[in-house]
Amino acid sequence: MAKATESTLEIDLSALRHNYQFIKSKLHASTKMMGVVKANGYGSDGIIIAKELSRIGCDYFAVAYAGEGEQLRDVEITTPILVLHPLPTNFNTILEKCLEPSIYSLKMLKEFITFAGSKNQKDYPIHLKFNTGLNRLGFITSEIAAVQQLLSKTSSVKVKSIFSHLAASEDPEENDFTNGQIKKFEHISEEIKTILGYQPLRHTLNTSGILNFPEAQFDMVRCGIGLYGYGNDVRFNKHLIPVLSLKTVISQIHHLSDGDTVGYNRKGKASKALKTATLPIGHADGIPRSLGQGKASVYINGKEAPIIGNVCMDMIMVNVTNINCEEGDEVIIFDKNHTADTLATKMNSISYELLTGLSSRIKRTITYT
Ligand SMILES: *Cc1c(COP(=O)(O)O)cnc(C)c1O
Repeated sequence: MAKATESTLEIDLSALRHNYQFIKSKLHASTKMMGVVKANGYGSDGIIIAKELSRIGCDYFAVAYAGEGEQLRDVEITTPILVLHPLPTNFNTILEKCLEPSIYSLKMLKEFITFAGSKNQKDYPIHLKFNTGLNRLGFITSEIAAVQQLLSKTSSVKVKSIFSHLAASEDPEENDFTNGQIKKFEHISEEIKTILGYQPLRHTLNTSGILNFPEAQFDMVRCGIGLYGYGNDVRFNKHLIPVLSLKTVISQIHHLSDGDTVGYNRKGKASKALKTATLPIGHADGIPRSLGQGKASVYINGKEAPIIGNVCMDMIMVNVTNINCEEGDEVIIFDKNHTADTLATKMNSISYELLTGLSSRIKRTITYT
């Protein structure tokens, strides 16, 4: 494979296929897979990821906002798309692009029914979101009667699925709470089936839910981070392959002497002879400033090079005193061996934040290795 000659996020589609198959292998053959491709495919490239997932048979997609679904429709992706967090101002886009809204409040249900009716829709697919403990979005149990009221008076919409979201599926210490959420969701499902007279699809598991609570897979699962190769747990990470590698290149090498300093505010200090490399990637690209001053390292020719001084907007400087390297050499920020998960830990965060923070300025390329 060609070496990076500028800051590049490599997308390994064979790793994506591997993760998809591994997660499928944890599920019943009949359980549908909803690939979560919100936030531009967790910071990668939502279109590239969605095209590959739809090619290999992914049943459904989830995005956060209507505009993200619109982007997928505009490249001819025809897989059903759930919009997790629609806003009334997006209803037109939703209808025009055949997107399926998550309906999470009575106010929104009323508004969407009125809207769909005004556009002469019949059985427009909607998804009812229930709050079982995350307290973010969703109906509560006591609203079910009012939901029934509204649905009984319209044929403009039809409930395609009901779902809920787990608060702590990755945390074994919260297993009792998670099992409580699952129980609650089961009861809600029964009630909804009774009031509708049919069984909509049911889904409540995200990646960690799939891996830790497979008994609660119901009819479909919503998998995000696992598809990108992170399982939030060493037991699962060893079966998943990180899809994304962030690489860059050495722009310039400097030889400093005792007393010289590096970068803004002179936060990098040479106490003896020091060789530094300047890299064309900074906090505007999604390398947090908190990783500066030695907090994190990059990898050059197999050796670890700590960030020296503050992270700049467009650059970082790294200590390469003991590394045999030259201008133009490839630099690894994270890859399959030095994972985004490990780097995220150094910024007191999680892979999700590091990946989705990678800016559009970074070039995306596909690799098949
Ligand atoms: C983002 C999201 C998911 C995916 O979660 P992962 O942990 O990435 O698998 C699933 N469901 C909802 C409602 C989400 O917001």
